[in-house]
Amino acid sequence: MSPPYGTRLSGKVAVITGAGSGIGLESSVLFASEGAQVVCADINEKGAAATVEKITSMFGAGRAVSIKADVSKEEDVKKMIHLAVSEFGKISILFNNAGIMHPADDNAITTSEDIWDLTMKINVKGVWWGCKYAIEEMRKTGGGSIINTASFVALRGAATPQIAYTASKGAVLAMTRELAVVHAKENIRFNSLCPGPLKTPLLMEFLNTEEKKNRRLVHVPMGRFGEAIEQAKAALFLASDDSSYMTGTDFTVDGGICAAY
Ligand code: NAD
Repeated sequence: MSPPYGTRLSGKVAVITGAGSGIGLESSVLFASEGAQVVCADINEKGAAATVEKITSMFGAGRAVSIKADVSKEEDVKKMIHLAVSEFGKISILFNNAGIMHPADDNAITTSEDIWDLTMKINVKGVWWGCKYAIEEMRKTGGGSIINTASFVALRGAATPQIAYTASKGAVLAMTRELAVVHAKENIRFNSLCPGPLKTPLLMEFLNTEEKKNRRLVHVPMGRFGEAIEQAKAALFLASDDSSYMTGTDFTVDGGICAAY
């Protein structure tokens, strides 16, 4: 990324989960480049701190802080949201992006209750906690934008089975729509981001052979894996006032997967 930087998020404060890697890392840097002050949260403390170092080296001090937060723990999420308020005065944007895809064989027959529960705890409950505490703060300042990362697999059946993951992302879509409707008059917008398959650690650890990668690419009309920055640019749109009349959408950035039959 090189200057000139933008102003699409100037005056806004963003909290981004999963900020130590992939979409969260790219979004943290991009949001800061557009003028936001950013709370970078991740269960991986070093990863979140490294993202803040990157932002500080690019845009100067006072633009970002990191926090170790496990989104499946209510206390951690509460602290993460309150850090935005104590450090930067408010929260205008929450990007509930942290998530896991268990690398084990995860079809309905072979998956385990432990995998199911862990996936739901992080991917679904984590989003709920984030929304709960952000709504309370956003109400005080007249609104905000919340983006929840779902997946194209929640809109189409995944050919490589990952049943707990798919179910968790379907829950994110449903929860996001209801929140959008319930809080629309409070000027709190909620949208789901539905990425296609990306070249990030999460998927590359799952598709750990060339055969599995090629099997997945058969379904991508563009014929390539997406880049995390391509998701970050979509998240920036949803976070900014450019999307001011959008709420409750399943926003797909998927190389054309959902358009194919
Ligand atoms: P990634 O592995 O690069 O980053 C995920 C980050 O989330 C990591 O830094 C990890 O430490 C953090 N994290 C994991 N569990 C956490 C927890 N309990 N609390 C806080 N942080 C936690 O993966 P990514 O591809 O950038 O994934 C980001 C989101 O995008 C996830 O929700 C994922 O399900 C979704 N997604 C990814 C793909 C893909 O192909 N990579 C496709 C669709 C959706």
